Amino acid sequence: MSYLPKNIFTISLCAILTGCTVDNEEVGHTKYSTDQELIDEYGLTLQQSENMYVTPRAVSKIYLDTMSCMGMTATGPTVAYKSFSFAGLGGAWAFYHSVASTIWINTDEDDIVLERDSRTDKEALQHEFVHHILYKNGAGQESRKHSSPLFKKCGVGVNTYN
Ligand SMILES: [Zn+2]
Repeated sequence: MSYLPKNIFTISLCAILTGCTVDNEEVGHTKYSTDQELIDEYGLTLQQSENMYVTPRAVSKIYLDTMSCMGMTATGPTVAYKSFSFAGLGGAWAFYHSVASTIWINTDEDDIVLERDSRTDKEALQHEFVHHILYKNGAGQESRKHSSPLFKKCGVGVNTYN
């Protein structure tokens, strides 16, 4: 039984030093794509996309988790990954078009502003999902102005963290 206190020490040291194990596990640099349109069980349509840092399954999971976090449901939006500079949209992380129920995630990357990985993709998706779920639940005004506390709770947006 002499190893028990040591274990406890290791665990608490871990908690102090890291908080990071979770983050580190989550951050990935593997790119995924889908060569066909996918529709999941929540009605979320993932258009043909490449340069995704999350899998199509993860997009659905993030949507489900965002609905749970908000305590609201809505039929899923259409999601597509696009080059914003190519489409003339500027340098944002992501964009939600409420009338078209469409979320675009920017695939552009540069060293200063848009350093993408699985974490930024997830944070961008969560934020745009909050916009969509609020809008579909009749909170269009709160959605547009970011005035709903649910943005802070469930999808504050991409935090630059370098
Ligand atoms: Zn927003």
